[in-house]
Amino acid sequence: MLLEPRLVKLSTRTGVEVRRSIPNIRKRTIGAWCFVDHFGPTTQTDGMVVAAHPHTGLQTVTWLFEGAIEHRDSLGTSQQVAPGQLNIMTAGNGISHSELSQVGPAALHAVQLWIALPDAVRHMQPDFQHIADLPTFTHENLSGRVLIGQLLGFHSPARVHSELLGAELRMPAGTEISILPLRPDWEYGVLVVQGSARVNGADVAVSNLEYLAPGQTELALESTDPNEPLVMVLLGGRPFEERLVMWWNFIERSHAEIVRVRHEWNERESLGQKGSRFSDFVDNVGGWIPAPDLPNVELKSR
Ligand code: MN
Repeated sequence: MLLEPRLVKLSTRTGVEVRRSIPNIRKRTIGAWCFVDHFGPTTQTDGMVVAAHPHTGLQTVTWLFEGAIEHRDSLGTSQQVAPGQLNIMTAGNGISHSELSQVGPAALHAVQLWIALPDAVRHMQPDFQHIADLPTFTHENLSGRVLIGQLLGFHSPARVHSELLGAELRMPAGTEISILPLRPDWEYGVLVVQGSARVNGADVAVSNLEYLAPGQTELALESTDPNEPLVMVLLGGRPFEERLVMWWNFIERSHAEIVRVRHEWNERESLGQKGSRFSDFVDNVGGWIPAPDLPNVELKSR
């Protein structure tokens, strides 16, 4: 099933239009992967400037193909995010962070992915992992890097909290088919970020995501653009059964929980450290992004 992205102009990001393929009206999650944004390649003259904002109940994965971003967060982290290096921020009970793209000669080209935390660990202490040395492999006409989980026996050291796979896969322009094994009890998605692909017989254009339901044992990949190398992100996991309430930057389980974390973020100055889980930090962006008004209807879990 092909999931076409919708264009999202993020109020929190200047000059960057994002193609969002998950959540999709046809599919909300792939395993615990619950948010797939593809942005760029775009010039960095405007920069991507995201002032301090909060998250709960999720992990964010920022993965660059080109460019550089400075990440700061309320744990005190200050991290340059570079292509080929994995950055996973675990929000758990609550974190705030900012992102500032670094002006330079390279374009900015990246994906940002969210992983829903299972109920048993969603209130865990926040954490930030920077992993510069990920396992790489070559297999038939593929070269790959394992971000999360394991593929072909290559394991990522990243800590996640459900059965999950994330990998970057590359093929030269217009190459022969390559086959990877799949777990029939998992579901998968292949996001094309450059070039064009045929995925188990289906043509997939750039920024589109081909969803593979459980039951398949093989992934057949083909690079179909004769002039452009193919770059993909492979996502997979055991289908995530818990019902989520995703609103703005929060993942909770009920409307009441969303009301509470929104209040704790917007009113943290008056609530103080005892009344709010969110704390401030210093960065090169300045300011912070208030949570928008809640809709007039009760948010439902899905
Ligand atoms: Mn964020």
